[in-house]
Amino acid sequence: MGSPSIQFGSYTSITRPQVVTLKKFMVHFRRPSDYQGKYGFDWLRDEYIYPIETVTNDNNGTAIGAPTALCKNVAALKTEYKTTDVVNPISPYGMDYYSAWLSIFPHTTTAQFAHGSRMHRNGVDLDVEIEALESLVDDATEILFETNNQFLKITPSKLNLKDLIGSKKTKNLGGTTTRDYYLAEKKVNIKCKGGTLNAHEEIKVFAKLGSQKTEVGKLMVYKNNVIPKAEIVAVNVITGPSSASLRSDYQYLFKNQSFNQALIRAEVRVDTEFNLVELSKKKPAVRAFLNNVSAMSSQQIKQTLVNLYEIYGRHKPTTNSGQINYTGNTGTTRTYLFYTEFLAGNVLGSCSLDANNNWGNSYIIYKSALKDDHTIVHEAGHSFGLPHVFQGGSFAGPYTFYHGYTENYLDYTWQAGSLDRVGRLLGSGDNKFKGKMYSFYKWQWKMLRTDRSLITNY
Ligand SMILES: [Zn+2]
Repeated sequence: MGSPSIQFGSYTSITRPQVVTLKKFMVHFRRPSDYQGKYGFDWLRDEYIYPIETVTNDNNGTAIGAPTALCKNVAALKTEYKTTDVVNPISPYGMDYYSAWLSIFPHTTTAQFAHGSRMHRNGVDLDVEIEALESLVDDATEILFETNNQFLKITPSKLNLKDLIGSKKTKNLGGTTTRDYYLAEKKVNIKCKGGTLNAHEEIKVFAKLGSQKTEVGKLMVYKNNVIPKAEIVAVNVITGPSSASLRSDYQYLFKNQSFNQALIRAEVRVDTEFNLVELSKKKPAVRAFLNNVSAMSSQQIKQTLVNLYEIYGRHKPTTNSGQINYTGNTGTTRTYLFYTEFLAGNVLGSCSLDANNNWGNSYIIYKSALKDDHTIVHEAGHSFGLPHVFQGGSFAGPYTFYHGYTENYLDYTWQAGSLDRVGRLLGSGDNKFKGKMYSFYKWQWKMLRTDRSLITNY
C-alpha cells in the first residue's frame, strides 16, 4: 500500500465534521455514603463555605437561627483546599477548584517498604461527581485519569461522561445560588501498590471530546513513605466487682477506623489492669482516692489517677522518672488510656493539657462513655494534639467551626444552644451525624502526624 495521494487546492470533496464543543463541567472525587473511617478522605464540604445549614446558636450561646456557613474562616479554609500542599493547583474555566484528599497505606512487600500494610490492598472505591457548569448532553465526551506515579493506580483510567450523567441534582448554596451536579457512586478504585508515595501525588482529570482536551479535576493522594507508630497502653481501672473493660473491637477502632486516616499505625500495645480495690488494702493514698472520688471534679480524678499510676502502675513509663505527661523533648512515647467506672457529672472523657497548652499523653474515659467509640477516639485525638473543631481563642486550631454540625471526631455529638442561668452551654439538638462521626480532616492528619508521642524509627 502506498500513501494516499493528496490533492492540494481541491476542497470540494472534503466532508467537514459537524462541530461539537466540549461542554463545561468539573469533576470531583467524593467519599461513598457508607464510609466508616477505613481510609482518609477529605474535601471541602459545601456546607462549610456556603450558608446552607441553619445554625441555632453561636458557640458562646448567642442566638443565630439562620442558614450560616459552618466554618468561621471561609476564606482561609478555601485556600487550604485550593492550594495548600496541592500539586499544580487548577482553576478550570476560571472557577475555584478545591481538591479532595485521599490517604491510603502502600501495599508492599517488606523488601519494598517495611512499614506497608495490607489494609488497603484492594484499593478504595470512590464516588465521582460531575459539576455541570452548563447543560450536559450524552455526547462522546470521555473523562481521563492520569498519574505519573508508578505505584499509584486508578481503575478504570477512563470513563464515558454519558454513563455518569443519569439524574441531575440541584443543590441550593444559599440565596439564589445553586449548583447542578451528577453523582456516580463507587466509579473508580484507587490503590497504592509496590512502593510508597514519597511526596503528595496528584491524579489529574481531563475531559476529552475529539481533539479537545482540558483539565477539569484533581485528586490529591497523601504521601505515605513515613508511617509513624502510636503505642497505646489501655488501663482498665478496677474499682469494684463489675469493673470496666474495653470494647473488644477497640484495637480495630484505633488501627482501622481513626488513626489510619493520618497514616499512623496505632496499636494498643499493653492491655492491663490497675486494681485499685486490691491496692487500697495496703496503700492509704489509694484508699483516700476511692473514698473521695465521688466528690471530685473530672480534672481532679484525672490528675489523681495519673499520679497514682505513676507510683503503683505496672506499665508506668521507664523514662523521665516515670512521668506520663512529661513535656520535655524526650517525652514518653506511650499514650495512656484509663478506662474507668467513675462518674464525672456529664463529662464523658478528658485529656491532660498543661499550662503551656501542650496536650499530654494520657486520657480518661468515664462510665457514661465506656461503650462510646466516638469518645475513645475523640479523647485520643486530644492526646495527639488536636483541639476541638469548634474551639476558639488560644486553644483554637487553624479553623473554627460551629459546635455540633460536622462529622469530625473532634466535634461534639450535640449542637450548641443557649446558656443556662449559670452560664453553661445547653444543647439545641443532636449533631445530625451522631453515630457516624468518623472523620479527621487533612489538616488534622498533618497535626496528628507531628505529635511528639509518635515513634518514627522502628
Ligand atoms: Zn474534647
